[in-house]
Amino acid sequence: MRGALVLRVPAWCLAVLATGLLATASAAQQLRVVATTSDLASLARAVTGELAQVEAIIPPASDPEAFEPRPSDLARLKDAGVLVRVGLGYDHWLDRLLPVYGGSGVQRGAGGHVDASLGIPLLEVKGLSFDPMSQDGHAHGLANPHYWLDPDNAEIITGGIAEAVMRVAPQLTQTVIASRDDFLARLKGRQSRWEQSMSPHRGVPLIAYHNTWPYFARRFRLNIVDVIETKEGVSPSPARLARLAATIREQRIRMILHEPFEPEEAAQLLARRTGARIVRLAPTVLAVPAATGYAELFDYNVGVLAQALSAASN
Ligand SMILES: [Zn+2]
Repeated sequence: MRGALVLRVPAWCLAVLATGLLATASAAQQLRVVATTSDLASLARAVTGELAQVEAIIPPASDPEAFEPRPSDLARLKDAGVLVRVGLGYDHWLDRLLPVYGGSGVQRGAGGHVDASLGIPLLEVKGLSFDPMSQDGHAHGLANPHYWLDPDNAEIITGGIAEAVMRVAPQLTQTVIASRDDFLARLKGRQSRWEQSMSPHRGVPLIAYHNTWPYFARRFRLNIVDVIETKEGVSPSPARLARLAATIREQRIRMILHEPFEPEEAAQLLARRTGARIVRLAPTVLAVPAATGYAELFDYNVGVLAQALSAASN
């Protein structure tokens, strides 16, 4: 009986079904998602899976805050269906170049333009009249922009990306929703392990080189007492280093957080003077080889930091 029913499905119905599948496959091949950073590209891949071609503009293993785009980097914007950016002045170079290199669908205000900072509970917010472009290109304009370093914010970031993908390619809706749900469920599982690893170190005082870690510190209950660098790319003065050394001694700070691409001298000098240890963390996906994706970024940072803190407290 069932066999008969299957056989009775009209041929035109199968043809429509097949055409639909082909349309989905070809639209998927055509969809290109371009993110400014490796972190947003990793989150976009989590949302689109195999359905889209995802690329980052800023090359891996480089300092995103010192990035200056070359024409070959911006060629990636051509034919992009969805553009994902950090916002808050972090990727301010895009504002000047997007009208030249990007299509109408990814311009600010268009359906394929995602400012991933929208909806994020921001830290270190400055006045809305603050103009990030006037700050010598330093990227901490409207608020601290390192918000992807709280894994809780992945829900908001991937929500913005998923909405844009569904607007641009509605035929991908079901798959995008399922991929995102699956990714967030797996991330939640890992997050409870990360919080467990960090729980013995609640409130531990730390010094960082750059002001990268307020979101990470809030999530994992760390106390970043001060940062070595007060202005991007400017070395701290001897007087400032002396004050920082005094703070490290007074507050018994045992770790200085350092990142690849940052100058080493000041952190090394402070470590020699005070006995504090330098711990190298990854501020972005692919900043170190082990940080291959968004979840792996936290695997690496939490693993390295928890191990160093445990060793120091023994
Ligand atoms: Zn920064």
